[in-house]
Amino acid sequence: MKVKRARPMLKESSATLAHVSPTLLADFFDHLPEAVVVADAERRIRYANPAAEALFGYRGDEWIGRQTSMLYATPDDFAEQGQKRYNRFSRIGMQAYRIRYRCADGTVFLAHTSGGAMRDERDQLRGFIGLVRPAEAAEKTVDTLQRLHAITASTALDEAARIDEILTLGARHFGLDLAVQSRIRGEDFRVEHCLDPTHGINPGDSFPLSGTYCVHTLKAHEPIGFHHAGESEIRVHPCYREFGLEAYIGCPIQVDGEVHGTLNFSSLNPCRPFSRDDLIFMQLLADSVGHEIHQQMMRKQLSAQARTDELTGLSNRRAVMETLEWQVAHSQRSGLPLTVLLLDLDYFKRINDTWGHGAGDAVLRAFARLLMDVGREVDLCGRLGGEEFILMLPDTTAEGGRALGQRLREQLAGTTMAVAADQRITASLSGGLAALTDSDTVESLLKRADQALYAAKQSGRDRICEASS
Ligand code: GH3
Ligand code: MG
Ligand code: MG
Repeated sequence: MKVKRARPMLKESSATLAHVSPTLLADFFDHLPEAVVVADAERRIRYANPAAEALFGYRGDEWIGRQTSMLYATPDDFAEQGQKRYNRFSRIGMQAYRIRYRCADGTVFLAHTSGGAMRDERDQLRGFIGLVRPAEAAEKTVDTLQRLHAITASTALDEAARIDEILTLGARHFGLDLAVQSRIRGEDFRVEHCLDPTHGINPGDSFPLSGTYCVHTLKAHEPIGFHHAGESEIRVHPCYREFGLEAYIGCPIQVDGEVHGTLNFSSLNPCRPFSRDDLIFMQLLADSVGHEIHQQMMRKQLSAQARTDELTGLSNRRAVMETLEWQVAHSQRSGLPLTVLLLDLDYFKRINDTWGHGAGDAVLRAFARLLMDVGREVDLCGRLGGEEFILMLPDTTAEGGRALGQRLREQLAGTTMAVAADQRITASLSGGLAALTDSDTVESLLKRADQALYAAKQSGRDRICEASS
């Protein structure tokens, strides 16, 4: 026969619990991680499992036979629960509720309890049972999950702001004050978002990957954590030697199936050991950040597409107008010159008519490449539509613009462009130049440049005319 462990419970054969043997209770509940307290019909404690002993701080005989009132934060709570469910007439069965309890050392804690009356097959009250789970961890998790949902569902925040909020949330949840979201490329660990009360680490900072704990996180391909680095195998790590980070929890961030970087929370101080739930939650946070990064990339891509001319890759009319608004305002504030050069290919229709639309497209692309070489920055070269282009020349006078236009004309004249397998042609352009005046707006500046372009066409093409101011 199996020898049962002697545990101090149900010493006298209580009338109400007589049929529930102590060994049976121990068999049921001893290994349950939740605290279990069984009382008789008079609400005297008859059994408590090891988890309950650990939670309340009583051991063995100390509480067996005593009133459960000793477990409540206040006598009122004890009385209230007596009225609600722990009485002779109670028929409501097991119910979940939240209440404050008091430990042996006097500390009070909030807990979830599932409790109710136990009746036998003859409907006789046999006693009461309560399963107690400290509310804090569970509630904290639910609270954090609700907040995470609120952040990711928020339309008031953009992706970057949401990532910052997720960092703040995670740091608070884990009780760690340092949070970093990194982008990792090869050996380069770049901080994209971070939370550091001391401002020792800032977005844009770059570190060798091998000097960060994240090298282990990447290798693990899953969340990892250590709560006291100084007492773990990690203490030889350069990150520990250099920064003395004691607590760390981190997870790789996946974006579009690729590792983008890591999300981690850390502290100079050791913390409580991380649980399995902490690691699961860490993964959830990293997934949420990965989603935000993906959204951000998509949005940037869309916005870049919306500002780019598909055929040539130059800025389209919308982007040109935005850039020009900024350039005009900036130039008028700073007093620096600004010159625009409107360009139109000569007799372009003939190219289309002679060699086909595809050949015309090839000429437009070739001209765009030329423009990009001459224009100093890509976003200062634009295609306004058809075969009409613009160069925005900040910090350039009309004289500088004229020289640049001249150079462009010469280069175009010297560039042969393929229009058929065995046929290359050259083209010419006409240009209208206008330098910004104090009274100019974007519209008036463009209008003057357009008038100058018209004049260039009228006076024979293949030339650049300058607008009167
Ligand atoms: P001008 O010297 O007076 O500027 O004469 P032009 O023939 O260059 O000017 P016009 O405005 O008469 O013709 C422009 C042509 O450009 C007409 C149009 O079909 C063509 N075009 C507009 N957009 C595109 C395009 O994206 N690809 C091609 N291949 N042709 C285009
Ligand atoms: Mg033309
Ligand atoms: Mg035209």
